[in-house]
Amino acid sequence: MKNNKKIVVSTLILFAAIIGFVLFLNREKEETVSENSVKEHPPIENQPTIGESGAPVSIVEFGDYKCPSCKSWGETVYPKLEEEYINTGKANFSYVNVLFHGKESTLAALASESVYKQDPKAFWAFHKAVFAAQPESQNHDDQWVTTEKLLEIAKDHAPNVDLKQLEKDINAQETIEEVNKDDQLVKDYSVQFTPTIIINGTMLEDPFDYEKIVSLIEKELEGKK
Ligand code: CA
Repeated sequence: MKNNKKIVVSTLILFAAIIGFVLFLNREKEETVSENSVKEHPPIENQPTIGESGAPVSIVEFGDYKCPSCKSWGETVYPKLEEEYINTGKANFSYVNVLFHGKESTLAALASESVYKQDPKAFWAFHKAVFAAQPESQNHDDQWVTTEKLLEIAKDHAPNVDLKQLEKDINAQETIEEVNKDDQLVKDYSVQFTPTIIINGTMLEDPFDYEKIVSLIEKELEGKK
């Protein structure tokens, strides 16, 4: 009887130890996931940037023209940021291409790099117009990014861009080097979803949480005073 009791007690202790260990491992995992400071802020040289170059806060979006959440972020969160922080010289904003949706993502990225190379000032109008052209009820499989569509958008929104050159840049992948540089940043920063927003080296868990964005930016501005 006594021996049986001992076995039961030691089995219970063993189970408790295993459960404790599993909980400990999970806790470690959660801590790693919620840790959102990246090693250093992404380099923004040669990336399209809007706002004052010397602004104290740098915001980087990793986005994909094929991604419905990016369209929605650009139409709901970005305008508030632009009004409160970019136009006031407190922050600047850069865009890096992500290619999560295959060929169409790549086509749009090639075109955006061509427009940026040819007429950097026209980039943002083109960028906005590409997202505006994304169908509202987009199913990821609906094809809407084509060379023709991109040329049409450039004709309307980036009038100084040479359309022949743009067509060549898209079809012969002449701007692929810049697209590949962006893709390398996506890997370097382990970008898992789009849009991913990094503010002075901190990657947001929820890019749609505007209150959190404001508190992060204000904290950075406070620190720079
Ligand atoms: Ca780029």
